[in-house]
Amino acid sequence: MDTEYDVAVIGAGPGGYIAAIRAAQLGLKTLCIDAFKNDEGNPSLGGTCLNVGCIPSKALLQSSENFHSLQHDFAEHGIQSTNPTIDITKMIARKKGIVDKLTGGIKLLFEKNGITSLHGTAMLLGRENNQWQISIGGQHVCARNIIIATGSRPRELASAPVDNISILDNAGALALQSVPKRLCVIGAGVIGLELGSVWKRLGSQVTLLEAMPDFLPAADKRIAVEAKKSLINKTGLDIQLGAAVEHVERQGEELIITYHHQQESKQLTADKLIVAVGRVPNTEGLGTEKIGLEIDAHGFITVDELCKTNLPNIWAIGDVVRGPMLAHKAMEEGVLAAEQIAGQKVPPLLFNHIPWVIYTQPEIAWVGQTEEQLKKAGIKYKKGNGLFPANGRALAMGQGEGLVKVLTDANNDRVLGIHIVGPMASELINEAALAIAFDASSEDLIGTIHAHPSLSETLHEAALAANKRALHG
Ligand SMILES: Cc1cc2nc3c(=O)[nH]c(=O)nc-3n(C[C@H](O)[C@H](O)[C@H](O)COP(=O)(O)OP(=O)(O)OC[C@H]3O[C@@H](n4cnc5c(N)ncnc54)[C@H](O)[C@@H]3O)c2cc1C
Repeated sequence: MDTEYDVAVIGAGPGGYIAAIRAAQLGLKTLCIDAFKNDEGNPSLGGTCLNVGCIPSKALLQSSENFHSLQHDFAEHGIQSTNPTIDITKMIARKKGIVDKLTGGIKLLFEKNGITSLHGTAMLLGRENNQWQISIGGQHVCARNIIIATGSRPRELASAPVDNISILDNAGALALQSVPKRLCVIGAGVIGLELGSVWKRLGSQVTLLEAMPDFLPAADKRIAVEAKKSLINKTGLDIQLGAAVEHVERQGEELIITYHHQQESKQLTADKLIVAVGRVPNTEGLGTEKIGLEIDAHGFITVDELCKTNLPNIWAIGDVVRGPMLAHKAMEEGVLAAEQIAGQKVPPLLFNHIPWVIYTQPEIAWVGQTEEQLKKAGIKYKKGNGLFPANGRALAMGQGEGLVKVLTDANNDRVLGIHIVGPMASELINEAALAIAFDASSEDLIGTIHAHPSLSETLHEAALAANKRALHG
């Protein structure tokens, strides 16, 4: 095996595998090292996202949504089904099939692009003759350039140590073989809401305990309020805000969760507990101290706006560095790092252009600034709402709830933020991201002919409303 590379990418999650492909496309001799093993103990490319994150969660969200719709929504279409059942083993096997297909696809892409793929934990040893030395188990390789894409892992909670039997992290929550009767989720962020929704729709009684007093504090307030209402009233989630877990005790098969809420100590009994209190960067065992790689106060590898670290020819991307922990952010940074190594001049990634999505029902998505951020910054803005209850396609889908909010600069009409709660927000947000990326105005959105009937007409209507020209409101 060759042991000298132009680029060694550490980690084959969305950041790492994309970086490796782009580097190879640009003619660089590329190695990608990844340590992940699946439940069967086999190496599996794709990192958190493909194995235990984005993809398996979306597979289970879809299965559980179908089951829920069959029980609760189909009757109004005249479709009757008595006592539908769900085979959880089959649902989990379907999810695994999707994961295997995609992770296997990365293996094929690596082969197609001539990327060497090594399984194991990489440790940086130092630099000799402009070559970074790396150890992978007993193996030794070197590369002129390094891209660190080691991602993140679930944040642990001392009061609720994960065993993935009764106290679960994301991997455990995506692999349950039966529906727990009572499920508690610590954390009502993106991951907690999505995983809680899956098991609620399948029949669990789900309580989310969130230490923060506000629901989805990063989202636009109006959107967060609408989303919370719907998640409580329609999905049936019990969301307790300002609820700080103090300790978790095992009593036989049951878990007794003690938490502090509204100045009182309360208790909750659950059969399973999901801990979803955020994620921490993966730098352990990488040799960062030995080589003098700078780590910030929160444990992230320090990088500049172009993902360069403090050491020559070492880049770091994705969840292991500052910024939103999102797969598409990691991918964009992967391209950015690879292109710089190939000698290209690239602009930095603008975080304000990155869309956020929560795949609950209704979906929640946004890009750009919230109304609260604009107020705080003293920016004068115009605002328009488009409502899904007035949208023909949404009503035909049986999902006529929620809204699109368009915020534009009062001085020049440039789109500053678009916020959505409603059906297929995950797809609609990409038109919004396009508007922000290309500095479009609400007049550009208005001037774009939207197909009828389509959900995106609600965005068009919101742009009209921002100019006091709403046609349906
Ligand atoms: C349940 C869940 C749902 C999510 N849903 C979404 C979503 O819908 N959309 C979205 O954008 N994001 C989502 N995310 C977040 C997304 O998964 C991450 O932002 C993304 O995976 C980060 O990519 P990455 O390449 O930085 O790291 P990762 O995907 O974490 O990959 C890092 C890889 O590096 C390997 N590694 C670590 N250290 C070493 C080492 N020393 N040597 C070799 N290999 C190493 C790891 O084993 C892993 O395979 C979700 C996350 C979770 C947990």
